[in-house]
Amino acid sequence: MKGIIMIIDGMGDRPIEELGYKTPLEAAVTPNMDKMAENGICGIMDPIRPGIRAGSDTSHISILGYDPYEVYSGRGPFEAAGIGVDVLPGDIAFRCNFSSVDDKGIIIDRRAGRIRSGTEEIAHTINSMELEENVQVIFKESTGHRAVLVLRGEGLSDQVSDADPKHEGKTPKKVMALDNSEEAKKTADILNKVVKKSYELLKHHPLNIKRIENGENPANIIIPRGAGAVPNVEPFGEKYGLNPVCIAETGLIKGIATIAGMQLIDIPGATGGTDTNLENIKNGIIETVSRDYDFILINVDGADEAGHDGEMDEKVKFIEKVDVIIGELMKIEDIYFILTADHSTPISIMDHTGDPVPIVITGPGIRVDDVKKFNELSTVKGGLCRIRGNNIMDILMDLMNKSTKFGA
Ligand code: ZN
Ligand code: ZN
Repeated sequence: MKGIIMIIDGMGDRPIEELGYKTPLEAAVTPNMDKMAENGICGIMDPIRPGIRAGSDTSHISILGYDPYEVYSGRGPFEAAGIGVDVLPGDIAFRCNFSSVDDKGIIIDRRAGRIRSGTEEIAHTINSMELEENVQVIFKESTGHRAVLVLRGEGLSDQVSDADPKHEGKTPKKVMALDNSEEAKKTADILNKVVKKSYELLKHHPLNIKRIENGENPANIIIPRGAGAVPNVEPFGEKYGLNPVCIAETGLIKGIATIAGMQLIDIPGATGGTDTNLENIKNGIIETVSRDYDFILINVDGADEAGHDGEMDEKVKFIEKVDVIIGELMKIEDIYFILTADHSTPISIMDHTGDPVPIVITGPGIRVDDVKKFNELSTVKGGLCRIRGNNIMDILMDLMNKSTKFGA
């Protein structure tokens, strides 16, 4: 038997007046998800615990059976791993923007004219930076104006503030130690140096000279934020005795899977938006199940994007499109199929909330309950009742008959 956890990112919601006080999932036409509810055991799930507003990252960490309060200190490490930086436990990672400063050091554009090309060359230049402290600078461009910075060396800490002032018209903020440790002080000093040196290295960079000639803002400084220490986690495959793989769209989820030691399958046309290629995602899943992996984590991100944008119709339509591929995935034999969300992203809030999300499990030997619709309200009456994210792997391992007995 194989196990699949499919997470429709941000699918949970709250009742909306325009939908007759239904949630987007209740309003959407989802015959396949409803069929899963009818054939499976349903419940609601708090990704971390009731009322906690989980990030996508902390929720996935919890669902995979790790304690986010232990493993997670910031988004940086997962973003870095997600774009292919080979991070090591103890590295301190940051998310960065390429930004534009004038010659007085004032940020005139936080996104460097929404730079699209040439960031690889700039990253190459930043990587040539040498620090006296015997700390290695690893820098890699991500999409657009985004990048990651990793500091590797002895005696570093993630307890440092952001350099990003979040507004234009200001200078980069001085990075401060957030505790009294020598490590935090050292890391803050290094980060301030990196910001300053990045400007020295980039102000006359040929790419920036060309950008200025073309009337574009130069990418002449890097502004780090979101410090996090790369955690030392037991690989997921060893923890559960599974051969795991992940199909995800966003760098953040790919990074979590990577740090948990899971293989990644790349899907062409997976954008992480509502325009993503669900057909390719479906084909990728079916192809992957046929190989010798026995656990697949899937994340589809469009409903979360629509939620953040407050696009109600877009969210309903996207859920209906996902329902179509679920109809195909339900035909896969010899699997336990878990369908849920990682958190709610209500249209009315345009951000994550602590509302629990619906969950359903189908597969052989399941205690099928009376629930016939898959949504936030009807699944409350299901046989799983109310569980937490970190219960999911235990339940799956038990169903897959891979658990050992606790006691005699
Ligand atoms: Zn999410
Ligand atoms: Zn989100």
